[in-house]
Amino acid sequence: MGKNEVLRNIPAVEKVLQDKAVSSLLEAGTLPRSLALRAVREVLEELRALVIAGEEADTSMETISHAVVERARRLDRSSFKRVINATGVVLHTNLGRAPLPAAAVEAMKNASGYCNLEYDLVRGERGYRHDLVRDVLLEITGAEDALVVNNNAAAVLLVLGALAKGSEVIVSRGELVEIGGAFRVPEVMVQGGAILREVGTTNKTHLKDYEAAITPDTAMLMKVHTSNYRVLGFTQEATTAELVALGVKNNLFVVEDLGSGLSLDLGNFEGGREPLVAERVATGADLVTFSGDKLLGGPQAGIIVGKKRAVELCRSHPLMRALRPDKVTLSALEATLRLYRDPERARREVPVVEMLTKDAATIKAEAEKLSGVLEKVLPPSFAVSVVPESSEAGGGSLPLAKFPTWCAAVTSTAGGLSKVERGLREAAVPVVARLKEDALLFDPRTLTPEDYPLIAEALSAACPGAGE
Ligand SMILES: *Cc1c(COP(=O)(O)O)cnc(C)c1O
Repeated sequence: MGKNEVLRNIPAVEKVLQDKAVSSLLEAGTLPRSLALRAVREVLEELRALVIAGEEADTSMETISHAVVERARRLDRSSFKRVINATGVVLHTNLGRAPLPAAAVEAMKNASGYCNLEYDLVRGERGYRHDLVRDVLLEITGAEDALVVNNNAAAVLLVLGALAKGSEVIVSRGELVEIGGAFRVPEVMVQGGAILREVGTTNKTHLKDYEAAITPDTAMLMKVHTSNYRVLGFTQEATTAELVALGVKNNLFVVEDLGSGLSLDLGNFEGGREPLVAERVATGADLVTFSGDKLLGGPQAGIIVGKKRAVELCRSHPLMRALRPDKVTLSALEATLRLYRDPERARREVPVVEMLTKDAATIKAEAEKLSGVLEKVLPPSFAVSVVPESSEAGGGSLPLAKFPTWCAAVTSTAGGLSKVERGLREAAVPVVARLKEDALLFDPRTLTPEDYPLIAEALSAACPGAGE
């Protein structure tokens, strides 16, 4: 048969829709017509492309309608997938940063219908959404006032717009941060309408550098936490407390963009101790901003805490309405924050904190258990062992800190591990593992025992020769 003849044999869209396999699903209401139509068009188009390319193509109605049903089922699946994070990177930006505490999940469920978002139930009159998280924020950070927006990038933008529009903001050259996703301090300044005055050098900025740059146009001294990098060696920076003293003397706002929002002392890390939000608030800074979904371990949010007057300027700024979070976020944030009232409870129940503080001996025992589960499904050319490794905080936090860990390491005498790694990602419940040299690593730091059988299932499907 010539190409043209084969092309003519490809059935029309309507014909495929009328085929029993497809039409029965449409009639049963289990497949939306729009999706069926899209699936038919895609399958037929691909078939035509095959024929034109001179490849073998089966144009029988049975094969086509089967392909259409498969395609429609795939299109109908949610594009959101739960993923098993076996990388050991706790705040994995690509995998949704902080996994939420169970209490936050429950709170989101409660808030998802009608709730008292802006209704004062005692007085029976209008309430304010910000009041719902304000109390617990003040309690945990020691601040006078607090406000929540959609993320920390929005918080910084709002703070600049509300406190420094048209005026100069002094920032150290060592702190002109770029965070993933194109948040860059100089560019956010422009968007906030403030004028950036850089002072000092990359490695050393002294208090007197700030002092010398103050003019009648200065509105703010700003400190930006170098969340995702460190300047090491011959370095000098002004502390927030020193900036506060200078700010008070010159009647300037002092703001710190703290980024990570650590709210529980986790001790020392390589690369220095991570500052606690409450410590920075205690310096007397007018405002401190941080993310909800970094080291705090809650939902994506930007939290602004500090002095009443400065917070009020943000709250009443016209941008506020565009940056305000919804009921689901606020409820999850409040539930996460409430766990911090009891530090032990936060350690146990905030997954980010629990994972970062899990000790190596516990992880080693978990790695042994996981490796036992995986061993059972691996084909003979594969092996699994328990090896020492290190995990990361991730998410642009604690960049130098190494967290000693133990991984289940799968190796293969026949190679092909990158194919296995890909297979794991395509499993019904996708598993993201770490491929390192000649081993596929599974780090229990970011896993729970309930994940083990799912990993085994995905691995057995992804390994050539498994189950034979
Ligand atoms: C992460 C970070 C941001 C951006 O916060 P998002 O919540 O991701 O918008 C801004 N500034 C600093 C210092 C950060 O670490």
